[in-house]
Order: sequence, then structure tokens, then C-alpha cells
Amino acid sequence: MIRKPARELWKARKRRSPVALITGGASGIGLACVRRFLKDGWRVAVADLRPTPDLKAAGDVAFFKADVRSLPRANAVVRAVVKRWGRLDALILCAGISRAGLLEKAKIEDWQAVLDVDLTGVFAYLRAAATVFETQKSGKVVAVSSTLALRARHGLTAYIAAKAGVIGLVRAAARDLGRFGVNVNAVCPGLVNTPLTDPMPAAIKDRLRDETALGRIAEPEDVAGVIRFLCSGDARHVTGEAIRVDGGQLA
Ligand code: NAD
Repeated sequence: MIRKPARELWKARKRRSPVALITGGASGIGLACVRRFLKDGWRVAVADLRPTPDLKAAGDVAFFKADVRSLPRANAVVRAVVKRWGRLDALILCAGISRAGLLEKAKIEDWQAVLDVDLTGVFAYLRAAATVFETQKSGKVVAVSSTLALRARHGLTAYIAAKAGVIGLVRAAARDLGRFGVNVNAVCPGLVNTPLTDPMPAAIKDRLRDETALGRIAEPEDVAGVIRFLCSGDARHVTGEAIRVDGGQLA
């Protein structure tokens, strides 16, 4: 007699718990976001080329194999998430790649590859989710840019151009979707300890750490915490913003 209402209460609460779609959620910053949102009781869908580690014990999680460069696949993933859980509350855009190379030696193939994933991939998921957010009259979007979009360094032309493009795209989307009550923001991390930066020589990492005011390199959780804040009611009046998460590197 007591157990049935308790189960229904639990089911109702589960129905109400918010839903996040995270691109690039299989690794690094994206994976830290997956874990953080699950810990906070969200249901989480991941779109990535490769599967996440086993997270079943951490909560309600669904994996969609997807290349973010494909708009048709983005549309299908967003449709599947809404079909499964009936809503989409937050879109977190972490999928990204980097190719080093000086401008005078840059190959058009590398330029195209980085722009396709880091900028077109963000556009594709924003575009796919826009109609859902418009119908719902609510939504949060956070895209991962970089401090490199704010202060360039040599040898990363395509990456810097793509990440600067992400900030422009976020501002444009904040304008277009604001009338539906949707917040669209970017975060700009400095150096973060992830598989993406593993191959970087220790001497360069030390130099970047010494440039920060806090004297440390970020962990993925440091970025996930700010993304989580931007998806909360506490950030309801923040939109079109690009927030540095760089330990004061550019302060
Ligand atoms: P990561 O390599 O650990 O994770 C990136 C994820 O994106 C991987 O799971 C990968 O499979 C996925 N991915 C790559 N190409 C994809 C594609 N075409 N389709 C779908 N998924 C794809 O890297 P990270 O450091 O966690 O980077 C996450 C984001 O943060 C990236 O956009 C990166 O540019 C940005 N960023 C990272 C740092 C840093 O220092 N690590 C600093 C600033 C910004």
C-alpha cells in the first residue's frame, strides 16, 4: 500500500528531471559534464564518434553514435532524445579537434577538418535543437570555445578561427533564440588536462600553468562546473556571453 505511491512519486519525479544532450561526451570536458549532470539528477544523452565509458550506475544515460559534422544526424539525434524523454533542456557542445600547424605551412585539408568539427558541428546541433527550443519556449545552450579565441598563439590558425567563430555563432544564436526564452553562451577554457592536451610537451604545459593567476592547470570538472551553472536558473539573465575558465591566464 505504501510502496505503490512511492514508486509513482519516483516515476513522476523522473519524468520531470531535466534532459541534457552533450556532444563530445565520451571524453575530457564533455565526459566531466556527463558525470556532473547525472550527479545532479539530469537525464543525459551523449552524441560522440566513440562510446562513453560505462555510466549506467551513474544515472539515466543514452549514447548516440554521431559525427557532429552531419546535420541530418544531428536532427535524428535530437528527434530521438525528444522521443525518448519528451523534452530537451540543455544542449552542451564539447566535441572538438585540434590540428597544429603554422599558417605558411597550413594545409587546406587541416583547415577544413577543424572548421567542420569545431564550428559546423556546433552549428548543426544548434540548428537541430532550435525548433525544439522554439516549441518548448525554453532551453540552455553552452558551447565550448577557448581562450585562444580571445588571445591567439602561433601555430593554431584553424583552431583559433573556429573557436572565434563559435563565440560569434553563440552571440547570433542568443539574439535569434532569446525571444523563446533560450540562453546561449560559450565558455573559454585555458589549458585543461584532457586526452586532447596529453601529447603537449610538459615544458609548454608548465609555461601555460605559470601564466595563470592561480598557478594551476584546469581539470575537466572545473569547466563542467561553469557549464552546469550556465544551465541553471541562477544564470537565467546571462546570454550571448563567453566566460573565461582559465585560472586568470588572461586577467
Ligand atoms: P577530448 O579529445 O578529450 O574530447 C573531445 C571529444 O569530442 C571526444 O570524445 C571525441 O570523440 C569527440 N569528437 C571529436 N570529433 C568528433 C566528431 N566529428 N563528431 C562527434 N564527436 C567528436 O577533448 P577536450 O579537451 O575534452 O575538448 C572538449 C572541447 O573543449 C573541444 O571543443 C576543445 O576544443 C575545447 N577546449 C579544450 C581545451 C583543453 O585544454 N583541453 C581548452 C580549450 C577548449
